[in-house]
Amino acid sequence: MVVGSTAASRLGTAASEKDAKALEFLEEMTRNADKVQEKVLADILTRNADAEYLKRYQLGGATDRRTFKLKIPVITYEDIKCDIQRIVHGDKSPIFSSYPVSELITSSGTSGGERKLIPTVKDEWDRRQSIISLLMPIMKRYVPDLDKGKALYFYFIQSETKTPGGLEVRTILTSFHKSDHFKNRPYNPYTQITSPNEAILCPDSFQSMYTQMLCGLYERRLVLRIGAVMASGLLRAIRFLQLNYEELAHDLKTGTLNSKISDPTLRGCMLNRVKPDPELAEFIINECSKQNWEGIITRIWPNVKYLDAIITGAMAQYIPMLEFYGGGLPIACPMYGATECYFGLNLTPMCKPSEVSYTIFPNMAYFEFLPYEPSSSRSTHDPIPEPVDLSSVEVDKEYEIVVTTYSGLYRYRVGDILRVTGFYNSAPQFRFVRRENVLLSIDTEKTDEVELQKAIENASQYLNEFGTSVIEYTSYVNTKTIPGHYVIYLELMVKDGTANPPKDSVLSHCCLMLENSLNSVYRKYRHEEKIGPLEVRVVKNGTFEELMDHAISRGVTINQYKVPKCVNFTPILELLESRVVSVHFSPALPQWTPERQW
Ligand code: AMP
Repeated sequence: MVVGSTAASRLGTAASEKDAKALEFLEEMTRNADKVQEKVLADILTRNADAEYLKRYQLGGATDRRTFKLKIPVITYEDIKCDIQRIVHGDKSPIFSSYPVSELITSSGTSGGERKLIPTVKDEWDRRQSIISLLMPIMKRYVPDLDKGKALYFYFIQSETKTPGGLEVRTILTSFHKSDHFKNRPYNPYTQITSPNEAILCPDSFQSMYTQMLCGLYERRLVLRIGAVMASGLLRAIRFLQLNYEELAHDLKTGTLNSKISDPTLRGCMLNRVKPDPELAEFIINECSKQNWEGIITRIWPNVKYLDAIITGAMAQYIPMLEFYGGGLPIACPMYGATECYFGLNLTPMCKPSEVSYTIFPNMAYFEFLPYEPSSSRSTHDPIPEPVDLSSVEVDKEYEIVVTTYSGLYRYRVGDILRVTGFYNSAPQFRFVRRENVLLSIDTEKTDEVELQKAIENASQYLNEFGTSVIEYTSYVNTKTIPGHYVIYLELMVKDGTANPPKDSVLSHCCLMLENSLNSVYRKYRHEEKIGPLEVRVVKNGTFEELMDHAISRGVTINQYKVPKCVNFTPILELLESRVVSVHFSPALPQWTPERQW
């Protein structure tokens, strides 16, 4: 049934009564954003009244905003790390929440080189589901007939561990895909996917990707949208096809299954699906063996209406490649969320990449916004400015988002900087500006300046053994390769005065040392092939002085000048490139053990 008037909103009319209800819920929530926020805070503080953390700050059972802000400090992860360690080691007392901790979710953000752990409670998925269930009703407003086919979405789970206290430790998406919300989802013609659960739930990433791709190829004419959570993941899938199309085509031709698919549950499931289709196999070989892969997605999946992936923030660097492979297909960038909390949705998902804004959903958590001042313009002694409420943010200003969640984070700084672009009803809309303190990022790992500096120091100590020291360095993220990789430009000084830098074996080992010094998410992603081997490019002596001259010629004074620790300005990159004397790659995978050393 098509209902029009029931869901009259700025989003237009709804496709069904169920959608109308969903959109009406969105309207109601955003119309009364401030009231919803007041209630959300009162709910969180009431349900967690027994939490030790709130008692520690003598909240005294208050549930109003004024007392909450007066008593509870604005914090970062470091401030609660000790409490989280107590949970890791089996303390079951109500530290953050009156509800028991159901699992620890690993964030891609790191603290002291290790992944952050965020405690969560059982009903968290119900809340997150309320935002996920709005995705399709919104999308249907813009793209018709999405029930006439399927989605090819590349979803993966990751390895899980257990704390000494017996709690499951995993990523938010692993938790979701293993939950009943996903495994026992009711049939919905709009959310049919080509991948069987067995493929998504296979922990081996090669087997998972191979079988998801195979299913997507079998049903190529049915596929109406193609996506992954992040743009980097979608590009990895394309690269996988490039590397494995011959083996995939062999299976399509013969109706057999590659022996590398050895997971018994997955193999059993796939053997029921494979069937010989020589015509399809020939088509795939024909298309994939062509030199030019421009528009490959539309060639293989001719009925695709749009691509779906996050393309804001660090993912914006992949937009040109997605446009290249997608042959100009629109890219929908649907949502903004984190391990700590889901924040909101893009209500106009088919907009241009440069116009993506997210409407914050006031029912997800209690949100505050710290007026943003770049750390360079403030002294470390300055008090941090007072955060403002969701309804008090101002258009065109930048803020860092601070959350108070049902699971028991209180006034927690997420680290994301957002700019207000407008309001949907009374809920603010934000453009994602950047993650604070992130220098380099290929996937969702975040390498900051301090980490890179430490890595350079370690590598430098090693080079000292060969009579060489690092005079200066800078870095760059090369996303032209799939997967992308870090490039470090080094200017070296050879102590014996000769111009002979150390041998390739020494500098390659130096690349590995740099990798071993980076955070655990970086090293994990190297093992998962989400990041390629680190590259060192040695530049001619005097190059960094030339960089300074270049900056000075553009108006920077010598006193002000600092070597940029990451470069992406083309003239600077060109200058560096023209001075490269040798290139070296990490010869092996860095150390990383799936089992966490608690
Ligand atoms: P994680 O907690 O590992 O899931 O990472 C969450 C972080 O990823 C957020 O705090 C953001 O920095 C980034 N992120 C998530 N969604 C988006 C988005 N739509 N656009 C830009 N960055 C995002």
